[in-house]
Amino acid sequence: MSIAHEIRHARRAVALTGAGISAESGLGTFRGKDGLWSRYDPASVASIESFTQDPRKFWEFAREIGWSFLTAKPNAAHMALAELEDMKRIDCVITQNIDGLHQRAGSKRVIEVHGSIGQVACTKCTATYETAKAVDQLVRQDVPTCERCGGSLKPQVVLFGEMIPKKTLDQAFKKLKSADLFLAVGTSLEVYPAASFPEAAKKSGAKIVSINMERTRWDDLCDYRVSGPAGEILPRIVQAIKISF
Ligand code: NAD
Repeated sequence: MSIAHEIRHARRAVALTGAGISAESGLGTFRGKDGLWSRYDPASVASIESFTQDPRKFWEFAREIGWSFLTAKPNAAHMALAELEDMKRIDCVITQNIDGLHQRAGSKRVIEVHGSIGQVACTKCTATYETAKAVDQLVRQDVPTCERCGGSLKPQVVLFGEMIPKKTLDQAFKKLKSADLFLAVGTSLEVYPAASFPEAAKKSGAKIVSINMERTRWDDLCDYRVSGPAGEILPRIVQAIKISF
């Protein structure tokens, strides 16, 4: 048996992705020795508490890292997952990423557990805008504000201390419950709720596959584990599935 064989014969495979899948698009991961959180304190720049107290601090942080997120392009791993969806070999992608690269690679069924940088919302009147609008303002002033009411704009991402919308979580768990194969790509599985996804899928009888550069604490749960860059491994798996059709 191989991963390609399992995906080829799965009835409902679900992929979970994390920051590692976007590393080959030039986006840094958050944890680890070179991760963003070794340079920034998440509690002071990316928590809802610090945002509410002083949105300027958050936007200064966003100004530093935002450009790389806005200009990043999908890589071979994003493309491979989009192709697997096209081939009806995976049902959907659940992602912890906020970069929107899955959709830009062509994936249609994407559940974004931590939201997306694609839009910003007013914290006062809840009006929403494309992020480009906030970027224009960011270039001219410190804090992007709502043109309707003057409230601070916040990206539609889940900051530390914020709840993940219940509807999104319910959607994710519904997919996991019906999955017969769970493919985790580029995630340390340290952050909840994603850290609970492999067990939830396993309980429903899914086989667990992990593609990651390093070991995670859920490795013992895995039926298959490949160590290496997702941008090399996933296209090879797609190729092997195509050959077997
Ligand atoms: P993480 O930083 O905790 O872990 C990333 C994992 O990916 C590591 O285990 C690492 O070994 C692995 N990895 C690195 N490069 C890889 C590659 N080329 N191929 C395969 N694996 C690779 O990331 P996480 O588990 O997603 O959790 C961090 C949180 O930070 C998430 O909640 C996410 O929202 C957020 N985040 C998002 C982005 C993004 O949107 N691109 C970037 C950084 C962090």
